[in-house]
Amino acid sequence: MKQDLETYYADLRRNAVRQLEARRKACEAMDPGFAALQAKRGRVFSLPAQGAKLTLSTIRLEEEALLKRHDLPKDYLQPVYACSLCKDTGYVGDPVKKKCACRLKLEQREMVENARINERETFESFRESIYPDDASRQSALKIMAYCQRYADTLPTPNIRQLYLYGEAGRGKSFMGNAIAARAIEHGVESLRLTAYRMNEEVMRGFSTNVSPLPRFTQVPLLVLDDLGTEAMIPNVTAETLFAIADQRNMSRLATVYISNLNAAELAEHYGERTASRILDAAITRSIVFDGASLRTKKEERR
Ligand SMILES: [Zn+2]
Repeated sequence: MKQDLETYYADLRRNAVRQLEARRKACEAMDPGFAALQAKRGRVFSLPAQGAKLTLSTIRLEEEALLKRHDLPKDYLQPVYACSLCKDTGYVGDPVKKKCACRLKLEQREMVENARINERETFESFRESIYPDDASRQSALKIMAYCQRYADTLPTPNIRQLYLYGEAGRGKSFMGNAIAARAIEHGVESLRLTAYRMNEEVMRGFSTNVSPLPRFTQVPLLVLDDLGTEAMIPNVTAETLFAIADQRNMSRLATVYISNLNAAELAEHYGERTASRILDAAITRSIVFDGASLRTKKEERR
């Protein structure tokens, strides 16, 4: 488990370097001045330490000026990390290192993380008595009836996407699990994936050269859980989610998205383009888990 996290961070850093190299190449193709500065940088290492430091900062200033001339931000040729606090190492502090907040969050998550379909969370094991009041119980029963109908008509339900959202601890993940478990009972191939695992598998795909994306986009039922709680890895997270939403949409495949974000927050978090695929009113039923009522997206807009 610990090793997994080290690999995860190493992959993140590798991604940052790869993105940086792509930007550098683009710059060098645009203006030979960039390549000249980079060559100068390469020769610095033969200088004595003090002079090297000075020369490096001069080169950096020249580079920033050059970037400015091309209307590019001055940090354009600096790596972009998923976590700027620890620069994707997982640790902060010098000389005493301690775990970065992003790492603590991951470790916590890792403990409860289970990408497989949980066999105990099924419609049969649903107990409405766990809800504290009558209104919540009624609401939960309604949601369950709807989700059960959805699951029983897979792989081609009437409305093929569900967007389950609301605060944590309202039973959204349970419902997603129950749908996947029922689908499997009916012989419909299903995958349950958290956004965190989605990130992780895409990053691993970079180092193994085996992309998980075809599986994410082609499995007959995908339950994508915990959207909005994962790290936003530059050029990875939002792009992967868009590819999943767009391609599943075009292939008319059933997808259950689960998130703590409402429609507006989803658009803000991943961009309008992605949100419009996930919340496409013609094919999506949005269900809020607020413990009080079952509302569709349409009703909410009124
Ligand atoms: Zn961090």
